Amino acid sequence: MRSLYVKFVVFTIGIMIFSGILAFLISNMYYQQKLKPFNDQKNTTIALNIAEFTGNQPDLDLKDYFENISSIGYQIFLVDNSGNEFYFGAPFREKTLSHSTKEQVINGDIFHGILNFPQETFVTGFFANELKNTIGVPLTHNGKKYALFIRPDIKLLFNEMHILFGWLLALAIMLSIIMVIFITKYLVHPISKLTSATKSLSNGNYNVDLDTTRHDELGELSLSFLRMASKLEQMDEMRKEFISNISHDIQSPLSNIKGYANLLKSESMSPEDKSNYISIINGEIKRLSTLTRQLLLLASLDRDEDIMKRKSVNIGKQIKELIRSNQWQIGEKGITLGFTLPDVEITGDPSLLNAVWDNLLTNAIKYNKPNGIIEISIKEQGKSVLVFFEDSGIGLNDKEKERIFDRFYRVDTARSRSVDGTGLGLSIVAAIVTLHGGIIHVNSIENQGTSFVVELPVR
Ligand code: ADP
Repeated sequence: MRSLYVKFVVFTIGIMIFSGILAFLISNMYYQQKLKPFNDQKNTTIALNIAEFTGNQPDLDLKDYFENISSIGYQIFLVDNSGNEFYFGAPFREKTLSHSTKEQVINGDIFHGILNFPQETFVTGFFANELKNTIGVPLTHNGKKYALFIRPDIKLLFNEMHILFGWLLALAIMLSIIMVIFITKYLVHPISKLTSATKSLSNGNYNVDLDTTRHDELGELSLSFLRMASKLEQMDEMRKEFISNISHDIQSPLSNIKGYANLLKSESMSPEDKSNYISIINGEIKRLSTLTRQLLLLASLDRDEDIMKRKSVNIGKQIKELIRSNQWQIGEKGITLGFTLPDVEITGDPSLLNAVWDNLLTNAIKYNKPNGIIEISIKEQGKSVLVFFEDSGIGLNDKEKERIFDRFYRVDTARSRSVDGTGLGLSIVAAIVTLHGGIIHVNSIENQGTSFVVELPVR
């Protein structure tokens, strides 16, 4: 029984059968405890009334009279003290009744056959068409003693109702089984679809088709499932792109190193060429080293464990030191750098924050125009500080601006492609700023310049 559908159907029908049996047993108990004595009492009263009436009517023809009574719905057995027996109405299926019972009733006892009928189900009790299942009362007519045994003719009285209730029950059971079979299909269908969607997802196929129009938990589940599938697809894409980018970024310096190292083997080479090649090789090694350093940093930022070593950091001083160490590159490009850097202390990880300023400053130099301008400033604003890096560089258009924080993204124009870089710097910056509870904004106009604003909480 593997499928949920079969289980559902079997369990529901099982519950129906079980509750049917239970209801039958409970109503049977009710019949035995309450209805049977009541029924006995009712029929005793009727029998006594008949006996009294006949006793008071000496002119009455007993046989005619009982023939009449039986035709309106009674089964009657009459026996006199000489042992003559008469039956009126529908015949009894079972006529055994002890001789002593008949004697006792003739002599004045009342026989409670209905009450004392064996404790079986009400179907066999109430409907049992037996002489034992009657009420017996004494009757005296014209000085002659009789015993009158009487029971309602259930068949005559209730036959149509009997059939009607039978049909009602059968129809109710049949219809509910059919409905269970169909409704369960309707209920279980989305679950089967989700199951096959899960399978297709685990096989790497993210294009799953699910019904999200249902307004219930299953519809909601399908919707979340689709969202999860598209998120997984995105992540999978990112993973593939990441690996292909890393492989490319490692492969190209390695093949350059290999090529130039081979050239160095040639003996007929001028000392200038040789030193030129060596510096190219060194440059490639530096690129590889930067790349691995950035990858390691990103990996540790990605890990959830707390890598921050919080301290009080004077960011003004930190940036000024950074400018000093980059003075040579700034001077080489003829860039004019101005700054307003007051001593501002914030709580953070000094080396991670240094990586932020370093990336923003080197970008402002790298993507600047010759003889351009860089302006760096710090402003305190309530419980946060704003750090501005503004340059008069090549700028970014709106589309590029959206993507610069993506890993490995580099603006693909001749201007910026000629500049060394990995495309990881700004994604590291964004991760560090987020880790410090801050945000980073970028404003830029193509060909005019870019400004980055880092907003960090003081504590
Ligand atoms: P990279 O190693 O290429 O500098 P980053 O992640 O630091 O990587 O920057 C991503 C891209 O964003 C850069 O390749 C460049 O195209 C663009 N970019 C970053 N900073 C600036 C800036 N100050 N001005 C113009 N473009 C910039």
